[in-house]
Amino acid sequence: MRAEDNINVIKGVGVKVADAFSKLNIVSVKDLMLHIPKNYELYEEPSALSEEKTGYKVALRGRVLNDTWFMRKKGGMTLNKVSFLTGDCKIGLVFFNMPYIKKAVEKEDEIIVRGILSHDRFGLHINQPAVFSLEKYKEVENTLVPVYSTVKGISNNAVRKYMAEAFASVSLKDDYLNADELNELGLISFPEALRALHFPRDYEDFVKGHDRLVFHEFISFLLPVKRDREASKYSFDKPMIEVAETVRYIESLPFELTDAQKNTWNDIKNDMTSGLCMNRLVQGDVGSGKTVIAFLALLMNCVNGYQGALMAPTEVLAKQHYENVKAMAELFPDAVRPVLLIGSMSAKDKNEARKRISSGDANLIIGTNALIQASVEYKTLTLVITDEQHRFGVKQRESLADKGGNVHILVMSATPIPRTLAMIMYGDLAISVIDVLPAGRLPIKNAAVDFKYRKKAFEFILDEVKKGHQAYIICPMVEDNDNDELQNVIDYTDMLNEIMPKGTAIAFLHGKMKGSEKNAIMDRFAGGDIDILVSTTVIEVGINVPNATVMLVENADRFGLATLHQLRGRVGRGDAQSYCIFMSGKTDQKVKERLEILTKYNDGFKIADEDMKLRGPGDIFGIRQSGEFNFRFADIYNDSTVLKKCAAFTDKLLLAEYNERMQEVSAGISDYDIGHVDFRTI
Ligand code: ADP
Ligand code: MG
Repeated sequence: MRAEDNINVIKGVGVKVADAFSKLNIVSVKDLMLHIPKNYELYEEPSALSEEKTGYKVALRGRVLNDTWFMRKKGGMTLNKVSFLTGDCKIGLVFFNMPYIKKAVEKEDEIIVRGILSHDRFGLHINQPAVFSLEKYKEVENTLVPVYSTVKGISNNAVRKYMAEAFASVSLKDDYLNADELNELGLISFPEALRALHFPRDYEDFVKGHDRLVFHEFISFLLPVKRDREASKYSFDKPMIEVAETVRYIESLPFELTDAQKNTWNDIKNDMTSGLCMNRLVQGDVGSGKTVIAFLALLMNCVNGYQGALMAPTEVLAKQHYENVKAMAELFPDAVRPVLLIGSMSAKDKNEARKRISSGDANLIIGTNALIQASVEYKTLTLVITDEQHRFGVKQRESLADKGGNVHILVMSATPIPRTLAMIMYGDLAISVIDVLPAGRLPIKNAAVDFKYRKKAFEFILDEVKKGHQAYIICPMVEDNDNDELQNVIDYTDMLNEIMPKGTAIAFLHGKMKGSEKNAIMDRFAGGDIDILVSTTVIEVGINVPNATVMLVENADRFGLATLHQLRGRVGRGDAQSYCIFMSGKTDQKVKERLEILTKYNDGFKIADEDMKLRGPGDIFGIRQSGEFNFRFADIYNDSTVLKKCAAFTDKLLLAEYNERMQEVSAGISDYDIGHVDFRTI
């Protein structure tokens, strides 16, 4: 068997399985070997039962008290139930559609069961537990068992079996880092790391594999960015001048710009009149007022006679920007001619918009990233702004340069990233920081509470709704899957509809909805027609609904603090007092401590920093920060040590004397395609 062979050379992989694998982009044996587990199951020592563990996965040792009790429900579903004595506590075990379980679970058996402990009117029970004999559990106890992303037709166990086959007979190409380099960096080789990730001997072994993988992700990102930085001083052949319109626009605003906004605007004016391409990051916490800065740059660009584009990560945000830009256009009807371009528009409207762009009739283009980039001809594009979450790289610059010569690039980000890391990650950009919030904002009042507080939280939300305000409720998931530990948007909305008084307008929003559906919901929420919006984190980016004054975050322990901080930024945008409630079922001290960071600080940078201090190696599979740098495996905070090492190594490779080695490494990186996210592809 060779790495390049089709996966069907592995025993047991027939046409059907190979077909299923292809849905995961796994075609060759090598693809399989590079299919990194998405998580691990740690088989903990069986523990004693306690009420506190309700809602969490537990492993319990005990005795089966009776033979299973069987019933067939309407619709054909079967149910087996049995009583289980663990310690001096009796709980129920419930199995759906597993009639054969009665042979595996018999009266008087001593077994270990593992699953999520639930507590409802039937008392304490576990649905669909995994059942182990004592010996079988001993084998897995304290080991890490990989969990792979799979598709229908391939079970996790099957992947593990095929993986073992592949690793037994194939060895992958040597690492692109040589032994000396690995040694100096304190890393194991990539092939060895893959072995450690698929078959971890223990936790330490896994960590070594993980670090090598993380290094790989970092260097895949940093090397091109840093290499191209050298070449990124493009000259700009369309000189611009400062214009009176921007001064008038600032005067027309209902507020005065903060000093930080003024400084940032000065930086941008200097860039745009300098004769070189602007390549600038504006970094500012949520609510610091980045949008108005973007608008000023667009206005100056329009008045100079050119086209500018503002790219938003979501349609909802694009639409919101468009509405605001239209207001600006009313002030300067001759100079500013905006157009919107988003996927949910009809083909006819999209075509119309494209025509107006290519003819130059529209000169301020707002849309979602992909659309603005891919399918549009510009007449004189000179300014591109990305708002929230996306980097803009050299490749994009080149593709746009093909369309219209060199362009000024402005990146707006709220990612709370400490200075040292920012210098590494944004090495190719000049940075302006908006580090003060507009004056007069009432700080958001925060509370970190447990599930017992939910009823009170609902009452509180209802009070705010009665006052004419609106509320967000954030849940981690879209639909129920077998993990009943997490709140999900759809069931949650049903539940709210039942308990909230008639006439309360409740709606839900999640990322799997169609663009047009999302837009409709957001429009209604922004217009005040929806009182309570139950949503996944899709509302995280950018949305501005100042009348929303409460946010309740369910399962808050599931999110990185930076994400929670971003989420919370959706309230506290108006004059009224706003509130944020972080709800979590976990009562352990560490979770509390983490969430309390949010109640103590309102500054994204500070929060990220404190969060990092609290983290330990055990958090590796758990919470990852989101924000702009969605690496697949790496986390710039957790893995900052590896990141710093990687940056130093990359800098060394970029020295002239290492040029040849740099080329080799660049070429070698692509041998290990682990499907890392290319931030520079928007
Ligand atoms: P973000 O930086 O998160 O993108 P926005 O640009 O959406 O923040 O601004 C948040 C709110 O603050 C908006 O309603 C905006 O009009 C307002 N705002 C912006 N700058 C100021 C300022 N200097 N003073 C008062 N309000 C401001
Ligand atoms: Mg914004």
